[in-house]
Amino acid sequence: MNISIPIFGGDSFLAKLPKDILDASSFSVELISDFNQAVSRILVTPPDVILVQGSWNGSMELCHWLKEQTTLSWIYCILIEDTPQLLALKNTSGEDWELERTSLALQQGADAYIWSVEQRGEESRQEEMASHRLLLAHLNVGLRKAQKYRELIKKNDFLSVIALADSLTELKNRRALESDLPNQIQKARSQGTPLSLIILDVDYFKKVNDTHGHLVGDRLLQLLCCRLRHNLRFQDTPFRYGGEEFVIILPNTNCDEAYAVANRLNSIISKEPFAINNKLSLNATISLGTSCLQAEDDAKGVSLLQRADRHLLTAKATGRDRVVGCTSLSLHHIPHRQTASFFS
Ligand code: GH3
Ligand code: MG
Ligand code: MG
Repeated sequence: MNISIPIFGGDSFLAKLPKDILDASSFSVELISDFNQAVSRILVTPPDVILVQGSWNGSMELCHWLKEQTTLSWIYCILIEDTPQLLALKNTSGEDWELERTSLALQQGADAYIWSVEQRGEESRQEEMASHRLLLAHLNVGLRKAQKYRELIKKNDFLSVIALADSLTELKNRRALESDLPNQIQKARSQGTPLSLIILDVDYFKKVNDTHGHLVGDRLLQLLCCRLRHNLRFQDTPFRYGGEEFVIILPNTNCDEAYAVANRLNSIISKEPFAINNKLSLNATISLGTSCLQAEDDAKGVSLLQRADRHLLTAKATGRDRVVGCTSLSLHHIPHRQTASFFS
């Protein structure tokens, strides 16, 4: 794999880098001399490591900026000090001064601070080789760290998906609802659009388990969710709320529309049996409650959910296989089904 390493500095700095870096087949270098260009390169394609020329204008600012970026601070920033005055002071000021200077550079944002070596004969040649070896070692540390970080991010993304999904039905789970619903409420309020919610529960589901066993019950839930999902509009999101109970968030949907969607789902579930296997088909019905966002509803969606849940309980209490919800009309009549609606 060819990894591109940005070098923030000038041509002469690039030319002085170890041959091991310049000629390496596993990575290539990319000279950037302008601060803003360096920032946009890092933002667009975050590199694993960046090399910064200490004497270049904006070098410390770039290291500092990088460490301020929450999602980019893992990028390993190697600052190579080649400022002539500092190199001269290093030669005359002793170890304490050098340590102080290194601490300062690390505090300001560098992950590694390496002194460049001026060529002054055989002794400095040895020193230069040691400095190059140190640079290569830091480069490897940076690449290793970045690889580990990327693996962690991948795992983290995977775990986040698992944490928010229901394994049986593959719908989003209740935890996902708890974060999505407040977001949708905030969005609806800021955009001035309506928002509705449906809670539905499978009727007499315990009987399915008791008669045919839990595996058949599981299969029925999967088939039912699949049918629900395929009959929802693009913008509507279903969640498994718990057991055989589901919530659907309907953005940009007013009370009447939510009520119509709920009725459509009700008939879609009851109109055809579910083929569990070659030998067994089961009929199922659902009861549904709807609610739509009111000005006085809380930001988390508790009261919105409670209202839909109350309507669901009414649907259960008045015979099941029906929708109860708030609409602009007090009563909706659906043929063959007793359906009640209330002002909310
Ligand atoms: P009602 O019409 O009043 O809702 O009756 P019900 O039988 O559907 O309701 P009840 O609350 O009495 O029973 C729900 C059943 O759903 C009990 C529970 O074991 C079952 N259940 C919940 N989650 C699952 C699941 O993931 N798989 C299976 N097979 N059954 C489940
Ligand atoms: Mg039930
Ligand atoms: Mg239930």
